Amino acid sequence: MAAAAVDDGETTARFEAEVRSWLAWCRALPKVELHAHLNGSARSSTLVELASGLGEKGLINFPEVQAILLKGDRSLAECFKLFDLIHLLTTDHNIITRITKEVIEDFAAENVIYLELRTTPKCNASVGMTKRSYVEAVLAGLKAVEAVQVISGSQENHKKVLGTTLSRPIIYVQLLLSIDRRESTEAAIDTVQLALDMRNCGVVGIDLSGNPWVGDWNTFVPALKLAREKGLRITLHCGEVPNPTEVQNMLLFQPERIGHACCLEESEWTSLLHSSIPVEVCLTSNMRTETVPVLQDHHFASLYKSKHPIVICTDDPGIFATDITREYALAAVCFGLKKANLQFLAQNAVRHIFADDKVQAELQKIFDAAAINPHEFTHRP
Ligand SMILES: [Zn+2]
Repeated sequence: MAAAAVDDGETTARFEAEVRSWLAWCRALPKVELHAHLNGSARSSTLVELASGLGEKGLINFPEVQAILLKGDRSLAECFKLFDLIHLLTTDHNIITRITKEVIEDFAAENVIYLELRTTPKCNASVGMTKRSYVEAVLAGLKAVEAVQVISGSQENHKKVLGTTLSRPIIYVQLLLSIDRRESTEAAIDTVQLALDMRNCGVVGIDLSGNPWVGDWNTFVPALKLAREKGLRITLHCGEVPNPTEVQNMLLFQPERIGHACCLEESEWTSLLHSSIPVEVCLTSNMRTETVPVLQDHHFASLYKSKHPIVICTDDPGIFATDITREYALAAVCFGLKKANLQFLAQNAVRHIFADDKVQAELQKIFDAAAINPHEFTHRP
């Protein structure tokens, strides 16, 4: 990834060295991840292994895909190739379960203590997959996690886990079901109904995502209104491409959060700042997708300066070859943030999670305990 407008090798090397100097501290910082797509977070080594099987069947050009997966600095075209690969792989329930398990373990390894994973339920009659069976495969992944103790689902479940002696670190995991912008109103409502049916299993909200050049806002409003009426929380991918009418309508809808907010004109920007709707900021993603040309010019700086609520997130860490630790380090280097600023951003994110006050209080306790020594985090019990 180009670190600056003029990308001589020396500038990039200096920038990367500075980012590296932040990684250990940022990894130890407890963090909250609120914008991560399940399949876009899949582990590269797993994708290489699974892609090899598809290569043997002649379904993909394995050497080409492997070369992309082994490199870090991926072009937009290469990222799209990986999305295609993942699309092929996630027609198998067992693979979905495996990816979910690994994604949670990977976020936990970065010291994420609360994770909202979002995913678009898929149906594929030819392999016996329904939206419901897809989400059940995801939930099986939550149960399969071994490296850490997952806390999810109802308050009863939380109490059960927290009432026992814990031998492993904990991570709270909640799910958001995504409506794909290609979907019809009926299909979007189906996803909301499914989310409502699965509330006790850890589904807490609805996301609107997918190709920002397709779909019309009005198609999704009935489903989003239903979700709101029934108490589900809502986050929207907003302003990924210039679309002033849609951005204004989205802000008027007052979702609990929005993602990206990259392509806003002045009047929309003013509306956003007045709204105080928290923004999920995904630095590397916006660079890779070429939504923001230069990281140093990212609107993170304006939002931060305006004291607008922001949450540092990854979007698709597996595809964009990043992780939440690196995103915090990038914010420090690009925008001159100090450790105390990053600590504030990480802890303040708790205020914007889609979980109840009890979970928020538990998380605040973890942050407060870690903050005793802000120079060297040692939060894991
Ligand atoms: Zn996203």
